[in-house]
Parts: sequence; structure tokens; C-alpha cells
Amino acid sequence: MSDQKRMELFLELFGGLSQQAPGSFESTGRAWELLPALSERPRILDLGCGSGRQTLDLARLSGGQITAVDLHQTFLERLDARARKEGLDGRVRTMIGDMGELDLPAGSFDLIWSEGAIYNVGWEAGLKHWRALLADPGWVVVTECCWLTSDPSPDCSAFWAEEYPTMMTMEECSFVAQEAGYTVLHSFKLPDSDWLENFHVPLEANLAAFRKKHGSSREALAVARMCESELSIHRRFANEYGYVCFVLQAVSSERT
Ligand code: SAH
Repeated sequence: MSDQKRMELFLELFGGLSQQAPGSFESTGRAWELLPALSERPRILDLGCGSGRQTLDLARLSGGQITAVDLHQTFLERLDARARKEGLDGRVRTMIGDMGELDLPAGSFDLIWSEGAIYNVGWEAGLKHWRALLADPGWVVVTECCWLTSDPSPDCSAFWAEEYPTMMTMEECSFVAQEAGYTVLHSFKLPDSDWLENFHVPLEANLAAFRKKHGSSREALAVARMCESELSIHRRFANEYGYVCFVLQAVSSERT
């Protein structure tokens, strides 16, 4: 199957969801509350925004100006429509781009936010690249899938060796964040409901419709099976890995 065909099928499956990764308004709000008080109109960059669940939450929470970046136009169009509908379009600007190669002015954001997306460029590469975009002081709030055990079950370990071989523990992520120029202010694990009610249940409903629509198409079946195996691994091993939210402060350049 060509990469383009696979991507089209993924976009079809995930595009209609209100979020494309585990998360919730409650967890976004919890991370927001853990930040020190920001200016009245903070400049926020939301990376890998998808169709913008957390972008809209942030617009409501912050009163700031949000630049929301994603690789895929389909998601950005959906976010634009949602922002218009909620009267938040004046504060959300969408931009197509690669979060690992952003051509934005150095020091131009007070806060970088990224939920369920940094794995696409890698924890270390992402954090290092984003550091230069932050003003002083500057913060990053980022969620990342982490090992919650140092001794995962063989099936779980084999699945992630294929899907995300560089997945780290929370402690390893914190260590790498410090090496990349940040202080870890807080970290917390996202609750199971952020996976289940908000993400997996709607995804399962989409999978049923997707299978029905595509019948015996080999390409579509391969994509559906891939998603289903991820859902099944999560049902069996939810206690062995999970999303963790990290609240980071960039170490002031005067102190480095
Ligand atoms: N933050 C959203 C979406 C998470 S899914 C949510 O929590 O619902 C990951 C998102 O990252 C997808 O929308 C995908 O299109 C986007 N993405 C993947 N690689 C990217 C890259 N290199 N640069 C920018 N966005 C990327």
C-alpha cells in the first residue's frame, strides 16, 4: 500500500473524531492550572493540534492568541470550522507545518502546548527544536506515551517495539527534558477515561462504520486491523504504559 493511500485512510478514520489522541478538557485544565500565572494574552503555539480539541480548550482557558500547527490540512479545516462555530476564530490561527522544522521567529512564544503528537518527531528532537521558539520565561506542556513499568509483558513489549521503539519511562523523559534545557515543574499520568470515553469509544464506532463502508478492500482492512490491535493491546495492558503530561519551564538562557 502506498504511504499516501494509508494516510488518506487514516485521515478518514480519525478526521471526524473530536480528538485524535487520549486527553480531555479536565487534563488540559489541570496542566493549565499547574503553570505559573502567564500574561493576560499569552502567545501560545499548539503543535500537532489535529482537529483542535485542546486548541479550543486553551483558547477558553487562556484568553491568549493561539497558533495551531498540523501537517494535515483536513484537521486544520475542521479546527477552523469549530473555532468559528464557538466564536473563537479571532484567537486561533491555523498553520500547516512540520513541528520538527518550524520556520517561526526565535523567542516568539510564551507557551508551547502539544498533546499526543511529539512522538512523530521524537521527544528529544522535538523539545530541542522548540526550545529556541520560546520567550524568556517560556513553558512547554506536552503529553507523551511512556512506559509505566520497567518490565512490560512480552506481547505489549513486542507491539511497541514495532510501533514506537523509542518509547521511554517517565523518568527517562524527565531526564532527557532536563538535558534539552528545561526544568520539569510537574508531571502527571492521564486518567484511563482520557483514553476510553474520549478516544477509544468514538474510534471504535468509526472503525465499525469504516469497515462497513470499505467492505473487503485490502488497504482499508490493513488500516482497520492496525487500529484494532492498538485498542486490544490497550485493553490488555493499560497499566503498563500510558500518556503522561509534563509541565516544563525553559531554563533561562542567562543561566545556561
Ligand atoms: N493534539 C491532537 C492531535 C493528536 S494526533 C489531539 O490530542 O487530539 C497527532 C497529530 O499530529 C495529528 O493531527 C497529526 O496530523 C499531527 N502530526 C503528525 N506529524 C506531525 C508533524 N511532523 N508536524 C505537525 N503535526 C504532525
